[in-house]
Amino acid sequence: MAILPVLRYPHPALRAKCKAVEDTNDEIRTLFEDMTETMCAYPGCVGLAAPQVGVVKRLFVIDVSRKIGPKKNHGLLKLLNPVITYSEGEKISREGCLSIPEFLGDVKRARRVILRALDESGEEIEVPAKGLEAIAIQHELDHLDGILFIDKVSSLGRNLIRRED
Ligand SMILES: [Zn+2]
Repeated sequence: MAILPVLRYPHPALRAKCKAVEDTNDEIRTLFEDMTETMCAYPGCVGLAAPQVGVVKRLFVIDVSRKIGPKKNHGLLKLLNPVITYSEGEKISREGCLSIPEFLGDVKRARRVILRALDESGEEIEVPAKGLEAIAIQHELDHLDGILFIDKVSSLGRNLIRRED
């Protein structure tokens, strides 16, 4: 296991359209472990997508229980080739990103989603999610298409807030 360096905007890997993972193997499983360890190295971080560590493949890890506890979410998920198959409602919430640490922004997302993906052993799984977990899934999925939360804040820019440390 290793903590990987997290790339920061405007690194070009963060704008890449990531490629589907052809098969699950030890390399992918090690990457998942390292990405999980990297996520856990940052307090409050609930998700990390492969391009953030320079791997332009369609996979991410999330674990919103790190922030909201074990209730009403799936805990740690390692997801390959994820696709949203259903979404419902709208919700605006404040987001941040390890790759853009200086800013927070209000982003409109679907309130509930159902995600279909492969797990680390290549089994197909379906994840119905709501609340923070639904938001995190949509945020991480966007990373796989080179989309960042700053692209989705108000075009006037007034919803982008500089983080105060
Ligand atoms: Zn992010």
